[in-house]
Amino acid sequence: MKRECTECGRELLADDIAIFRKLVNRNAAEFLCMDCLAEKLGCTRCDIEKLIDYYRSTGKCTLFV
Ligand SMILES: [Zn+2]
Repeated sequence: MKRECTECGRELLADDIAIFRKLVNRNAAEFLCMDCLAEKLGCTRCDIEKLIDYYRSTGKCTLFV
């Protein structure tokens, strides 16, 4: 199933979906891409990428494998 950002329509990657679930709603059915999520949260895409790296490096979050 193809997923697109509900804001800009960009095709979403697994990381986009994972971080949205982690930061916004674990059970979300609609997602934002990293750029739109950053804008919504008032941070930068870079901040979000760092978070993804962090969650992945801990190995504890099942959303990031
Ligand atoms: Zn977007």
